[in-house]
Amino acid sequence: MPKSQSILYVASEVEPFAKTGGLADVAGAFPQVVRELGHDIRIILPKYGFVGERKFNIYDVIRLRNIPVPIGNKTEMASIKSSFITNQRIKVQVYFFDLPKYFNREGIYQIPKKNKDYPDNDERFIAFCRGALETLKRLGWKPDIIHCNDWQTGLIPAYLKTIYKDDPFFSKVRTVFTIHNLAYQGVFPKSSFAKTGLPEELFDEANGIATGDVINLMKAGIQYADALTTVSKRYAEEISTDDELGFGLIDLLKKRRKDLHGILNGVDYSIWDPSVDQLIPQQYTSKTIQEKIENKRALLQSFKLPVDDEYPVIGIISRLVDQKGFDLIEDIAQNIIKQNVKLVVLGTGEKRYHTFFSKLASKYPDKVGVKLAYDNALAHLIEAGSDMFLMPSRYEPCGLNQIYSMRYGTIPIVRATGGLDDTVDDVDLRNGKGTGFKFEPYDSKALLQTIERALKAYQDEKTWNKIIKQAMDKDFSWERSAKQYISLYKKLLKK
Ligand code: ADP
Repeated sequence: MPKSQSILYVASEVEPFAKTGGLADVAGAFPQVVRELGHDIRIILPKYGFVGERKFNIYDVIRLRNIPVPIGNKTEMASIKSSFITNQRIKVQVYFFDLPKYFNREGIYQIPKKNKDYPDNDERFIAFCRGALETLKRLGWKPDIIHCNDWQTGLIPAYLKTIYKDDPFFSKVRTVFTIHNLAYQGVFPKSSFAKTGLPEELFDEANGIATGDVINLMKAGIQYADALTTVSKRYAEEISTDDELGFGLIDLLKKRRKDLHGILNGVDYSIWDPSVDQLIPQQYTSKTIQEKIENKRALLQSFKLPVDDEYPVIGIISRLVDQKGFDLIEDIAQNIIKQNVKLVVLGTGEKRYHTFFSKLASKYPDKVGVKLAYDNALAHLIEAGSDMFLMPSRYEPCGLNQIYSMRYGTIPIVRATGGLDDTVDDVDLRNGKGTGFKFEPYDSKALLQTIERALKAYQDEKTWNKIIKQAMDKDFSWERSAKQYISLYKKLLKK
């Protein structure tokens, strides 16, 4: 029996407790698979106000009360609450970092509905990082690995290499830092630096956490973690070679290229698979694909669109932000709608796109359905009821929706970037091989041509069913990727 490892998995969002995007899906699913593979992995996330203690069986831990957390020259008191994520086979311990002054709120990063970050996000996530380390000491649990995710956890590797450097408790701990989206970096003014408590010399561009005269918490993680990962091979390549996608950190990523690994996210097929999905009206498999139509009808009804079986439905589920390629969609929306298709959109984000989609829906009430909200059940129905899924991202670290779509036989139309490129095989219309439709240049004409190519394939039922089957048969379950992380942990522990 190979030696098992112990891992603290640190994330600011974790399904089913708190979610804004793909990070939560990953942080909820990956630890379960690592646990099933025999390792002691535990999760820590902030205890947000909206996370129901009754709903999730969250309890106080008496010996983890009154944990002092230094923030600059103040000390805040935190405590830990505890619960589990379980499936029928295993349980993963979840620690909730409870510091009500910072986290007893209704939003994760932003004031709900205002699209505005909390003004004290610096202190909130300084507290979370420092607090996670202090919690381990109080708990007396020394994990082999602390696995950090995105800027909200970026200070942990920096603390371990400075303030806790000579602390025997942490002497054997190694850190992994996963970049889920390099564009969000946690940038704060110089005045926030003192609150971190880090030594002066870390306010440095080359070897520290400064970029110009601000601090950058993503940079802290990249600079100090023992190993770096990101969520697809192609994105690992892109952020370390392409100036635009390196988002100002390209030189540092180049410097650390040999420590940067692209490991594709998996997906949780106990949640995202039409054969078991409890949130859709009609379950189906690749062998009963004709039953998918019931979901299409339910979807059209839920958007109050006329129920016509023959028109293809194109679905979108997304944060409505520039990253996701909405400017391209804006450019060609009229041309798409002219083609006898229906478009259903679920998302929230920038005001500009809220206005755009609302106007489009009122102009074409029979063809366009829009819901500007966060709605998990509707997301499942869109996956199950659409014929195609549109995701022309400018960049995409991994992307989960295109992977979910394939499993639902909802053919993705994507731009060949990051994880979209790594997961979707472009259909060859001559032989019907492939799992989706891809285009390279970030350009609305190329997008339109690709949609037209997909619509042409849709007209030929035999070809279309073949594509559906190929897409549904693809397997992106977590096990393979989880094993890659585990062998990375092992390698670090040998060093
Ligand atoms: P990102 O992390 O960049 O937002 P991903 O494709 O990796 O993109 O993950 C998005 C996740 O968030 C998916 O699980 C998707 O279903 C979900 N999601 C995004 N927007 C919404 C929404 N408005 N309502 C429900 N789920 C959403």
